[in-house]
Amino acid sequence: MNEINIEAEKKEILNRYKMLLKASKRRLEKGDKELIRKAFEVAVDAHKEMRRKSGEPYIYHPIAVAQICAEEIGLGTTSIVCALLHDTVEDTDITLDDIKGMFGEKEAKIIDGLTKIAGVFDQTSSLQAENFRKMMLTLSDDVRVILIKLADRLHNMRTLESMKREKQIKIASETLYLYAPLAHRLGLNAIKTELEDLGLKYTNTESYDDIALKLKESEPERKKFITKFIEPIKEILQEQGFKSRIYGRPKSIFSIYNKIKHKSVEFEEIYDLFAIRIIIDTPFELEKTDCWRVYSIITDFYHPSPERLRDWISTPKANGYESLHTTVMGPDGKWVEVQIRTKRMDEIAEMGYAAHWKYKDSGDNKEGQLEDWLRKIRELLESPEENAMDFIDDFKLNLFAEEIFVFTPSGEMRTLPFGATALDFAFDIHTKVGQHCIGAKVNHKLVPLSYQIKGGDQIEILTSNKQTPKEDWISFVTTAKAKSKIKHALKEAHRAVAEEGREILERKFYKQKLEFTVQNIHEFAHFLKLPNTQELFYRVAKDAIDLKSIKDFVKFKAHPEKYAAHKAEQHVAPTLEKLVTDARGKSDLLVIGDDMQKLDYKLSTCCTPIPGDDVFGFITVGEGIKIHRVNCPNAVQLLSNYAYRVVKAKWNSQHLISFLAGIKIKGTDELGLVNNITKVISTQYNVNMRSINFDTDGGVFEGTIMVYVHSTEHLTQLITKLKKVNGVQNVVRLDG
Ligand code: MN
Repeated sequence: MNEINIEAEKKEILNRYKMLLKASKRRLEKGDKELIRKAFEVAVDAHKEMRRKSGEPYIYHPIAVAQICAEEIGLGTTSIVCALLHDTVEDTDITLDDIKGMFGEKEAKIIDGLTKIAGVFDQTSSLQAENFRKMMLTLSDDVRVILIKLADRLHNMRTLESMKREKQIKIASETLYLYAPLAHRLGLNAIKTELEDLGLKYTNTESYDDIALKLKESEPERKKFITKFIEPIKEILQEQGFKSRIYGRPKSIFSIYNKIKHKSVEFEEIYDLFAIRIIIDTPFELEKTDCWRVYSIITDFYHPSPERLRDWISTPKANGYESLHTTVMGPDGKWVEVQIRTKRMDEIAEMGYAAHWKYKDSGDNKEGQLEDWLRKIRELLESPEENAMDFIDDFKLNLFAEEIFVFTPSGEMRTLPFGATALDFAFDIHTKVGQHCIGAKVNHKLVPLSYQIKGGDQIEILTSNKQTPKEDWISFVTTAKAKSKIKHALKEAHRAVAEEGREILERKFYKQKLEFTVQNIHEFAHFLKLPNTQELFYRVAKDAIDLKSIKDFVKFKAHPEKYAAHKAEQHVAPTLEKLVTDARGKSDLLVIGDDMQKLDYKLSTCCTPIPGDDVFGFITVGEGIKIHRVNCPNAVQLLSNYAYRVVKAKWNSQHLISFLAGIKIKGTDELGLVNNITKVISTQYNVNMRSINFDTDGGVFEGTIMVYVHSTEHLTQLITKLKKVNGVQNVVRLDG
């Protein structure tokens, strides 16, 4: 190992510090320099014994992170101070209280946020997800936490060379998976691009090197072309009095790689390896006009492709991106993308909206698209998923999604991810609107909740106070917000049922002269081998706990020693073997278990299965096997909590026995509609109808019909017929 030259290192540390000051100079106000100096000294002292994997003094890292914050994100003094100190609480003896004492509450809070989310490296994937969620939670306090974290990650990626191979892959994958999309969403384009390129370099070195080499080889030719393209325009722009900068901007290696991979093209076939960027210096109020004037000049000279005009100036992207893009036919018959924007727009595009507007350390509270996005995240975090991995998946879905713009009836524009449905839109308007949503009108036409909205749609949401979120809604919403709100509401509903059960149980206990104490309730749940008291209450409400079990429990409490363990077993689900001996060959409609035996069973009332449905058997306490549909609202809970009590079940053969099934019909209220529907059901299909129920609201009707059918096939035929009735928009089978 080389002798370490302490003096030279000290000099280098000071050098780097001076560079940092220079980078932040633009924003420094009175007293700021002293604060940065203090943070620098505290950090140097705290990290003095530490070295990075590369052997360099550790302090190089926090200085570099602060430098990125100042220079590449454009953050102010508070962020620079926090970046310098970002690893002190995590890795040294300095505490949050020390930071609070030396700097202040605000700084301590940001560093707390950065500390909680540190150590993402050596964790299992779910812990990583948990950490990421924590990071997003801190975002609701202060977006600077995320920005500093991104700077931290960027520096770690830039210095990844000295890490072990397996760590490189791990960190690089995580960067591609989470941090690059996050940077994109925050509008930090330059950082996003670099994170992606570095991510690719370490996860797919071969492709990265290959593309980098080809880019380099083709560079002289490209440069020549760009000069040829630019020259005439430059002249005209000058004549017209524009102060402008024009240059060729190469595509990132990562995006070229993606294009090759997803469009199955060769490097040589990619025509848009670069874009021409025109940046004009013009006052704010002339921005739009001037950009279009430049567009007009360009297209006078080069012929534009009509399909490839993108106006991100009239409608900026949610991350704040503003620019005018067009693709024109350049010299030598080559298509060239031209991006036109102002200096201000370019700064936002490269450094991010966040830094530009909100966090100049001046408390400037300008409302904008970024605020909108942050608000959405905050709402999402208010009802977080219990499972952190789910959260990440939902969240990522929304990070990557392309945006579409739609309108409310009053003409207000909303941004939603591509693939969003009418129900997503309802939840985007307001949680309550989503929860009570019964239908939607898109461009004045009635559509189902699952309708996938398209850019430019004008959407009116129909609500009813009686409506509550349904289990199947989960299957057709795509936004993380709607998903988590629905799950939350369903959980609440379960809780409400349990609450009812609690009261019923209290009365039952009272009748048995049993005290309704926490202790007794817990013991009773334990006696019945239930996982928790909530489950107990829920079952009581659903009438699944009989009086006998309470009586037995009373006996057990009086003489626990006499109440042998085997007695308690009768409250536990019996084994399949026992059921086989008890009920051999009682029914031949269903075959059950791995050996597909004929056993006695009951059809569950929660989802009323009929032959043809995908089903499973569930061994209940005291009621034998109950058959549920695989998509029964209770199935997920049963399958995940009591997997050992689930048995296979299959319909044996089609018998002409009638089963009760529910149908839900939606449509527009038209004359004679109900008559036509009942006609289809009774005369044409010879199906027995048990009940029919129609509701009309604002020209939209909703009906529930209970019918007796023989099989799913039979039911499907009926539904198909019903869909053809005039005015009917949607016919579905009821779930529960
Ligand atoms: Mn760090």
